[in-house]
Amino acid sequence: MKFSSLKLTTPYLELPALFFDRVSPTPLHKPFLISASNDAGKLLGVDENLSLDEGLIDILNGKKLLEGSESFAMCYAGHQFGYFVPRLGDGRAINLGKVNGQNLQLKGSGLTLYSRQGDGRAVLRSSIREYLMSEAMHGLGISTSRALALIGSDTDVARERWEKGAIVLRLSPTWVRFGTFEYFNAKGEHDKLEVLADYVINESFAHLKNAEDRYLKMYAEIVRNTATTIAKWQSVGFNHGVMNTDNMSIDGRTIDYGPFAFLDDYEKDYVCNHTDRDGRYSFSNQPSIGHWNLTMLARALSPIVNYQSALEILDEIYGSTYESVYSEIMYAKMGLESEDENDKELFSWMLGALEGATIDYTLFFRKLSRYDGDKSDILDICVYRTSLEEWLASYDKRLEKESLTTSERHEKMLQVNPKYILKNHILQEAIEKAEKHNFSMVNELLKVAQTPFGEHTELEYLCKAAPLESKNIKLSCSS
Ligand code: AMP
Ligand code: MG
Repeated sequence: MKFSSLKLTTPYLELPALFFDRVSPTPLHKPFLISASNDAGKLLGVDENLSLDEGLIDILNGKKLLEGSESFAMCYAGHQFGYFVPRLGDGRAINLGKVNGQNLQLKGSGLTLYSRQGDGRAVLRSSIREYLMSEAMHGLGISTSRALALIGSDTDVARERWEKGAIVLRLSPTWVRFGTFEYFNAKGEHDKLEVLADYVINESFAHLKNAEDRYLKMYAEIVRNTATTIAKWQSVGFNHGVMNTDNMSIDGRTIDYGPFAFLDDYEKDYVCNHTDRDGRYSFSNQPSIGHWNLTMLARALSPIVNYQSALEILDEIYGSTYESVYSEIMYAKMGLESEDENDKELFSWMLGALEGATIDYTLFFRKLSRYDGDKSDILDICVYRTSLEEWLASYDKRLEKESLTTSERHEKMLQVNPKYILKNHILQEAIEKAEKHNFSMVNELLKVAQTPFGEHTELEYLCKAAPLESKNIKLSCSS
């Protein structure tokens, strides 16, 4: 099947008119293809090479519609940095319809009813970041929206400087957000909450369709999924940067990649978002922000779900799911298969030692995956060696209690400790090249992002540690 031959349906448009704004994309000037993800194409049932599809650019640019496609923007509200904003919505995203369980959405394709002061555009810089990060998150085994393709253009877009407009075609099984429920609750449109909840159950939690107390059960699923996703973020050192409730997907997947970052050196209170002056969305705060956001969702659902019961579910499920997912991954990252009563202590000691050592988080685990008792390989990438040297001595003793051989342990650890994550300094290099119309690095990054546990020896420059001046930098929110 070819991408441009797909037939879409538009189930969201069967909802009451208040849910959306029918709007046509505004095409960019002189569009060109930068990259396409054939792997994401498979989700749609597309098995032909996307970049050979002569209709691809026009469809991304909104010049041509796929069969059955009717374009629209969705409305929602949201808590932004803790404050409620009653009306947000897709200000620069335009939905095209659905196929194979995936909703297609253009990001950066012009003004909608919800654009407010914005221009409806997305710049090349942020579009490259979103495109690559969607595919990288998936490569790491973390639930996320996907990205099918990315086009650039000659359209000028004003940010801190003049930049060029770009469009990413994003895919997700749902684009409903916590904020979508908050919108209808705030408006007092309580009947719409039920309509939306039934839509969400149908779209994302179909097994609950005929369940008793289905809205409460839906909430429980959202809690479980959100806790799981955030636990996985913490395990890979991902800082989302803007965990507003309008950026929280109703099925718990990662969406809306803005000023995100992976930790370079392990620094638990790192804040990637330059505008987040109080550190509300710091790396270490993410689990508790997830909980807070779910409390806001419980409140939004309160006209159709018993609020107290929802909060009880939240307390019952959130922490325990988070803990079990996080600890399972972290012990696997450490190569510990058996259980030992001192493991918890060994683990928190490790995090403290990492912070004390000033060491790249991803590189540490990758090197630990080949650790055979010779400490120099790890200690050589620390700024301060003592804390990790002491920890490694204790780790040596702990490994004696494991039954796997060293090479068996290494093999398993290499499958859970990625070699390639999208480091900001590398992304920045790829962006600067792309701004000069050289897209080779974007495509190389796509390759390692999709298979981050592979060696890719020919692309090793993509996993080098950040130079001192760009370690754990803060990123602008402008996009
Ligand atoms: P974000 O922080 O990117 O999640 O965006 C928050 C809200 O602002 C969402 O409703 C976006 O659709 C909207 N928005 C962000 N950038 C723009 C833009 N350039 N034009 C129109 N709306 C925007
Ligand atoms: Mg958003």
